[in-house]
Amino acid sequence: MRQILVAGNWKLNGSLDSITQLITGITAGEDDTGKTQIAVCPPFVYIPVVADLLADSKIAWGSQDVSDRDAGAFTGEVAGAMLRDFGCTYAIVGHSERRSLYAEDDAFTARKFAAARRAGLTPILCVGETLEEREQGITEDVVARQLDAVIKLEGIGAIGESVIAYEPVWAIGTGKTASPQQAQDVHAFIRGKLAGLDKAVADKVQILYGGSVKGANATELFAMADIDGGLIGGASLDAGEFLAICKAGG
Ligand code: PEP
Repeated sequence: MRQILVAGNWKLNGSLDSITQLITGITAGEDDTGKTQIAVCPPFVYIPVVADLLADSKIAWGSQDVSDRDAGAFTGEVAGAMLRDFGCTYAIVGHSERRSLYAEDDAFTARKFAAARRAGLTPILCVGETLEEREQGITEDVVARQLDAVIKLEGIGAIGESVIAYEPVWAIGTGKTASPQQAQDVHAFIRGKLAGLDKAVADKVQILYGGSVKGANATELFAMADIDGGLIGGASLDAGEFLAICKAGG
């Protein structure tokens, strides 16, 4: 049985004060979250603070991005090994905001995925279609292309040591959640595609859903056969809401 993983992506939000309050609120309720695996992904600069605050907690932490490079003259970049130095378990790669706002393409995302693994981080690989692509009926083609870039570079085995997040771009931060069935259909497609290459990998990999998940819709989503948790944006900034989502997976 795959465990449910709920990962919060805080994006470009927070201050030292608000992050301390948020972590205090989440840890106060973590005992009621059952077997759900939980992670938070703060902005880079707050990772050491979050690491200290979570030292006695079951909650893991990760980064929202990682450099494709390991070291050298790459101004502004943060390497995977640096993130490991501060106890990160996960690194999100290929978030749709990185793909669309910072022009990060499939090949670049695959190199970031590889860099995360070289450093011992578990990549959370985001895939998903835009509204236009869904309306054109090419959702599966888009998701397959995004996955294939990583499989080509790193091999199918590497997917088994990562987490996939299916995030339809039209549902991110819009309040429009994919229906549980719409999400399940794409999750089943992803798992089926992976099974065609390696059944053990397909059975093992956690596939998260992301896109306007809240306490009120998490139970239905997590009840679907191929949905193994959520990548949570807006709702992860509210301790009560985030805990409600975590409880839905417990
Ligand atoms: C995200 O950005 O990964 C996300 C799922 O955001 P939201 O939950 O706010 O839609």
